[in-house]
Amino acid sequence: MRTRTETYNFAAGPSTLPEEVLRRASEEMLNYRGCGYSVLEMSHRGPLFQEILSSTTYSLKTILQVPDDFEILFLPGGGTQEFAAIPLNLMTEGGSADYAITGYFAKLAAEEAEKYGRVQYCCDMSSENFCRIPDQSDLRFHDGASYFYFCANNTVYGTEWQYDPQTPGIPVVADMSSDILTKYINFHNYGLIYAGVQKNLAPAGMALVIVRKSLLGKELSITPKIMSYRLQAEKESMLNTPPCWNIYMLGLMLDWVRSIGGIGELVRRKEQRANLLYSYLDESSLFHAHARKGSRSYMNVTFSTGNAATDKEFIQQAEASGLVNLKGHRKLGGMRASLYNAMPVEGAEKLVEFMKEFEVHHI
Ligand SMILES: *Cc1c(COP(=O)(O)O)cnc(C)c1O
Repeated sequence: MRTRTETYNFAAGPSTLPEEVLRRASEEMLNYRGCGYSVLEMSHRGPLFQEILSSTTYSLKTILQVPDDFEILFLPGGGTQEFAAIPLNLMTEGGSADYAITGYFAKLAAEEAEKYGRVQYCCDMSSENFCRIPDQSDLRFHDGASYFYFCANNTVYGTEWQYDPQTPGIPVVADMSSDILTKYINFHNYGLIYAGVQKNLAPAGMALVIVRKSLLGKELSITPKIMSYRLQAEKESMLNTPPCWNIYMLGLMLDWVRSIGGIGELVRRKEQRANLLYSYLDESSLFHAHARKGSRSYMNVTFSTGNAATDKEFIQQAEASGLVNLKGHRKLGGMRASLYNAMPVEGAEKLVEFMKEFEVHHI
């Protein structure tokens, strides 16, 4: 038995949510604001849910400063569904798209897109075991590409783009599943951004898609209606029953973000958390960071001792001390500390303290 207060949850996703958000959801679970029933039992076409949908959309628009020429969509299926939806909606018939291969999810997205058109790589960082992000000058674009796709934060390998890649006029598509709402976004540089919501926004199963209106209406004829961005935009994400609970939870999360001071405060906290961990990793003689300086993720810090047995021991002892879900992804091994928005700075402090203590006994 472990209490919530004694636990720091470093899970990569689904991941920690602010206690205030969970508390409010539980208070409103049986009776939503005096209507006599739950959000889970509410018609999605009724006025109560319409208000939830419009206020969630409005909060996102204001917090992320989404310009008027973008559409905000809440779609079922999570991040992976968008791996298919993006080529279906943006690839021209018989056309091609450019992909930056910087990690696990970027590779999966490229493999999915190959079903709908020709995929060309702008870079492939696999030969360096995805320990860094390419420089702008390393990216090779191809004539006639319908779009350029990159994964802004590589959840598995712990690397993150620290700049907005520029293309020769090709619309830019970004998977921000694991770093949305952790930075200001300059929408001028993007055609579409999307995120599976279970890392920084809400419970799993939904994707948030923010797409430039001028990119709508180009879908391939085989595109299922439910995956058409144009139709979903026309129907305000209600082509069918939307993921109501996720949209409601996202609304609560955004209320929380606003209450603590918005993106500016989230940026301050993420820098504090990640800097604590990376500066210790850089001086430790036991633990080593996987990602190179200049490419490191603020959200997913990947590290190891270089010895699988010691890693395993570390993960077990950390777990016993309430620092849970630190096991790395099977592709990379070692450890991964995911420091999403809801992780208090204290969580990173406790982890570094624990690592120092562990190091003393293992060196
Ligand atoms: C988790 C994740 C996904 C997959 O999301 P699902 O909702 O599980 O399909 C895609 N891309 C990135 C960057 C992720 O972190």
